Amino acid sequence: MAFNLSGFNSNNPSTSSDTEHVKVLIIGSGPAGLAAAIYAARADLNPVVLAGMELGGQVSLTYLVENYPGFPEGVGGTELVELFQKQAEKFGARIEFDSATEVKLQQRPFEVVTYNKVYRAETLIIATGASSLHLNVPGEKELTGKGVSYCATCDGWFFKDKDVIVVGGGDSALEEGIFLTRYAKSVTIVHRRDALRAGTILQKRAKENPKIKFILNTVLTEIIGDDAVKEVKLKNVVTGEEWKQPIDGVFVFIGHAPNTQLFEGQLEMDSGKYILTDRLMQTNVEGVFAAGEAADPTYRQVITSAGMGAAAAMRAIHYLQEHVMQEQIK
Ligand code: NAP
Repeated sequence: MAFNLSGFNSNNPSTSSDTEHVKVLIIGSGPAGLAAAIYAARADLNPVVLAGMELGGQVSLTYLVENYPGFPEGVGGTELVELFQKQAEKFGARIEFDSATEVKLQQRPFEVVTYNKVYRAETLIIATGASSLHLNVPGEKELTGKGVSYCATCDGWFFKDKDVIVVGGGDSALEEGIFLTRYAKSVTIVHRRDALRAGTILQKRAKENPKIKFILNTVLTEIIGDDAVKEVKLKNVVTGEEWKQPIDGVFVFIGHAPNTQLFEGQLEMDSGKYILTDRLMQTNVEGVFAAGEAADPTYRQVITSAGMGAAAAMRAIHYLQEHVMQEQIK
């Protein structure tokens, strides 16, 4: 269904070389951002998606997505994102490989400054996702890219026939740990408690995998090496025992933090810096919506993020019809 928003001159957005007026600006190109783009584009709103430097967010780093409906055999993360992109562009969304550096939400249209230009947006959909948390232990920063990694799909290949440690006990740690067994000689999952957080299917698969072993009740306290990771320091949190273990790689999957720094002080957030929305995806600023992991500390799935993106776009369409069009008629 396309809405008649001809008052916006939708085919000719106001554009100068460094300023562009758009009806719907979407920040982020993961499942939430691209689903929002599909819905806004199908309403003839010519949404612009600020994709950052790479399309797709975290799912594009996932080797195989097995729980997105419609793909009974699973679908590659990158492939799924490319399908989202194709679908959004087919209906008129424009994807810009550019990032927002400043937002001004006190004024209307909202102003979003990027590396390349200034956007004036009637509505804004924030879908900036989340980033991997770091352990913040000595050696982690220095050895990132030299054996410390946050992406098995990106870096697993470098650990052919090597021994690696995976830190974390959630779905990501187990899923990525299982993936790493394609390459690594051994994968040791180090988890800080005695019980894993991951779902039962993944736990079963990991426990049945002969290349995977577990060290529970244990934290990693230091990563040691010069040009490459050589060993780690581990500590049993129950007995207090500490020891060094030789290792070739450390993969950290201990959760995520929302990418919402840009909106601090302008949008209401919870204590974890997730953007607060009502059930219509509306933030505390009218006309600004948030979707996906930037606003969701609970579900964080491709399907739920895409659903939130679609909902945010539907509300943005509604908002434009109710408010901005009315103001133009006056
Ligand atoms: P998560 O569920 O938050 O798990 C993080 C894990 O890291 C937990 O086991 C946690 O320990 C541990 N941890 C946190 N901080 C730590 C620290 N400083 N030092 C050591 N360990 C630490 O994160 P996730 O695994 O990335 O999953 C995020 C969301 O994505 C979840 O909703 C998950 O279900 C979903 N996901 C789903 C799939 C799938 O369905 N196939 C795959 C990947 C992710 P505690 O258990 O003690 O808190």
